[in-house]
Parts: sequence; C-alpha cells; structure tokens
Amino acid sequence: MLTIYNTLAKRKEAFEPLHPGKVGMYACGPTVYDYIHIGNLRAYVFSDTLRRLLEHEGYEVRLIRNITDVGHMTDDAIAQGDSGEDKLEKKARAEQKSPAEIAAFYEDYFHRAEEAINIIPAHFYPAATAHIPHMIRMIEDLIRKGCAYTVNGNVFFDVTSFPSYGKLSGNTLENLKVGARLEAHPDKKNPWDFALWLKAPAEHTMRWPSPWSEGYPGWHIECSAMSLEYLGDTLDIHTGGEDNIFPHHEAEIAQSECTTGKPFVRYWLHNRHLKIDGEKMSKSQGNFYTIEDIVEKGYSPMDLRLLFLSAHYRSQMNFTWDAIAQAKKNRETLFALVHRLESAPPMTGPDLASPIRETWLAALRDDLNTPLALAALLEFVRLTNGSLDRKELFDARQAIAFLKEALLLFGLKTVKVSIPKEVQVLAAAREAARQEKNFARSDELRDKLLSIGWVTEDTPEGSKLKKK
Ligand code: AMP
Ligand code: ZN
Repeated sequence: MLTIYNTLAKRKEAFEPLHPGKVGMYACGPTVYDYIHIGNLRAYVFSDTLRRLLEHEGYEVRLIRNITDVGHMTDDAIAQGDSGEDKLEKKARAEQKSPAEIAAFYEDYFHRAEEAINIIPAHFYPAATAHIPHMIRMIEDLIRKGCAYTVNGNVFFDVTSFPSYGKLSGNTLENLKVGARLEAHPDKKNPWDFALWLKAPAEHTMRWPSPWSEGYPGWHIECSAMSLEYLGDTLDIHTGGEDNIFPHHEAEIAQSECTTGKPFVRYWLHNRHLKIDGEKMSKSQGNFYTIEDIVEKGYSPMDLRLLFLSAHYRSQMNFTWDAIAQAKKNRETLFALVHRLESAPPMTGPDLASPIRETWLAALRDDLNTPLALAALLEFVRLTNGSLDRKELFDARQAIAFLKEALLLFGLKTVKVSIPKEVQVLAAAREAARQEKNFARSDELRDKLLSIGWVTEDTPEGSKLKKK
C-alpha cells in the first residue's frame, strides 16, 4: 500500500485512485519565457519519480504537464497572479521577437532538459494558448453560476462565492483579512478576487476575442480548463512546487469546483524548493543554474537526479557543489557494481537482495521517501561488493535484478561517455605495453592520458578509462 502526504488533508493518507488501477495526474509545467533551471527540474524529477513508483505499483498513469505560454504575470508573488506584466510579453519585447517565438524556443529547451535528466515524457503537454476557447467556455459558466463578474472588459473570480476558499493553503478570507497587504486591481470587488480574463492594453500582442473584451486569460484558469479537458472533473493527483500552493492551486480549486460541483483533486502533492545560498532558486531572481552549468563542471545530469533523490521531496534542499560531487560518487558506485556483477561468472548462493529490496520499497511506499530508499540501496551495494571482494557466493541473478529495478525506478541510466579516437589509441598502446610488461612505457602513456584529462584504472578485468 502506498501512502502519500496530501497538502489538502495536511497528513499522510493511503492512496486510492478514483478508478481502480488508473491514475489521472496533472503536474504544473514551465512558464516558457526563460531557461528552466535545476530548481524547476527538482519539481519535474519529483513528479517523474512519483509516476515511476505508481507504474511500478501496477497503476496505469495518465500524466499531463502543461506549458504556460500566456497569463503568468511578473508580480505573481505579491498578488493574486494578475498584477504586473505578462512574462512572455515582457521577454518578447526585450528580445524583439514574438511571444510565440519565445515560447517555442524555451519549450524546446525544456523538453531537451527533461530528456537529459531522463524524465519520461508526459502523455500530453497542452499549451495555454491552444486552449483559449476552453477557458472562455469555463469563464462563461462561472459567470452564469454567479462565481465571477465582469468589469470594464475584465472578468474576476468572486472569492466570496466559494465558501471553502483557503482550504488548501490555509489562506481563508478570514485569515487573509489580517494578512499581508495586497496590490488590488481597481476593478475588483474584493482584493482577493483574481482575474479570469484581462482586457489587453493597446501594446499587448497576445490577445484573443472574447465576449468581454479583446484580451488574454489569467494564469490560474488555464490549469483548471486543461485538466478538466484531459483528465475529467476529478484528478487523482496534482503536483507542483510549494510556491504553487497559493494563489495558483487555491484558485484552481475554486474555479474547478464551482464549475463541476465535484472535488477537483483527491491528492495534492507539493515539493519544497531547491535553494541556492539559502535563497529560492528562481528565474525572476536570476540566481539559477541550468543543466549546462552542471555538465560544464564535469557532472552528468544523472548526478543531479541522484542528488535530488538524496533529499525527501518535502524537505528544502540547498544546492552545493560538494553535494553533487557526493551524488556523482554514489552513481559511479552503483553502476560499477552492475558492471562488476555482469562480468562476474554466474553464481548462486544466499539471496542478499530480497530483504534489502523490502526496506527499499517500504521507504518509497511511505510518501516517496527516496533518501531512505537510497540509503538501503547503497547498503546493498556495500554488502555485495564486500561479498565479491571476499569471493563469497551469493545469488547474483537476484542482485542484478534488484539493482536494475532500483535504477529504473530512480530514473538513473548509464552515462555514455564518448572516448575520442586519440584517447582510444593511447589507451590501446598503454594496454599493449602493460601486456608486454614494459612498465616504463605504460607509465609514460598513463601520464600522457592524464595530461589530456583521462584516468586509467587497472582492474582484474583489464584497464579502464575514466574522465578526470
Ligand atoms: P514556473 O516555470 O516558475 O511556473 O515553475 C515551474 C515549476 O517549478 C512549478 O511547479 C514551480 O513550483 C517549480 N519551481 C520553481 N522554482 C523552484 C525551486 N527553486 N525549487 C523547486 N521547484 C521550483
Ligand atoms: Zn498550474
């Protein structure tokens, strides 16, 4: 049985999907106005690991990850998501491109980063701009139901029409009254109302006709409209980073439940932030690393993935180069054992894997406790290497099966290092010198390889090359 922490219930709950055996899952995707950074990747690797676990448990998962290409405003942190300027419009103006060109460029980058870090593609990546009619229909319905109102071509959601507003974040209207001050739009009845549709100012290039004005949708309505379209009235799981809880997800609940009259999401899961120097890593602050920065320093995206898994998704994580260096060591140890087992002669003996596999799986089934699961796996690696060193017999088939199962669930794949021709030639010459017991020549070639960044390691199975 799988238990997960539900932000809505504020406790761990047994997971039970609406339809047995099937899981409808929606993960808030990127706003495509800049390079996604490794903080965003923490959110996507989390939802990918959850999906992998669900599939491992035998569920048929349908995952939707949206692409936000309109409506996300620059000042979303200080308001209800409708203050400031559209992030894509701003970037397009700065780069003298169209918002569509900006979106296409950064969406493409996002997919490449997903692939690099081995995220299984979602079943669909709906873009907000391709779903304007769906949003307009939903807004019309909300107006009809008395949950939204129109002023000067803008449409706002009336938060007082939804009595359980605040149930996800704790920001009930009562609490909000005494809380932070808010920059209120002059057309709003209540400062906590939020925009469903905004009339476009003359210079705004992204604009669509609507019954209220030529304008553009608010950020929150896109996720409600698209999840309804692709997953139905009630989703099993909705994920996002902790910054999405309020106002974004709170607003999604209000819009969706007012429209359908049904519970919107059964389990809300939020990952905490990846920080850097104690600050949230974010595009708007510019204090971020991309996957290229990681690779440039000699790490693989798989090291980053393993680093993410080494912390629980509900704990904050501070990115440091020391931590990723440790993750790299762990990854190398894991893959070295796979190689060692695969090249060892077949053997049988006691099953070292099964008891540890149970611990590993129990940790994952307990709210995706990846650090505990990883610790179990590394303990297994230590034990197995010890047995191999001491030439003790054990069930190698079970060991390989467990390792492969764990690597698959963790989304860790072999890193392919392409070895330049020149390096291959030097390594072959060194191996030949070694075979001839010409150790002076062999050492000379080893130093030559080292000077161009390649380390040779002599193992009982022959010498191996590694990047320095
Ligand atoms: P955005 O492109 O800003 O809409 O963010 C895309 C996803 O990444 C959302 O689910 C955010 O909550 C999440 N996210 C943004 N910054 C971070 C961070 N520093 N750490 C973890 N998740 C983040
Ligand atoms: Zn969203």
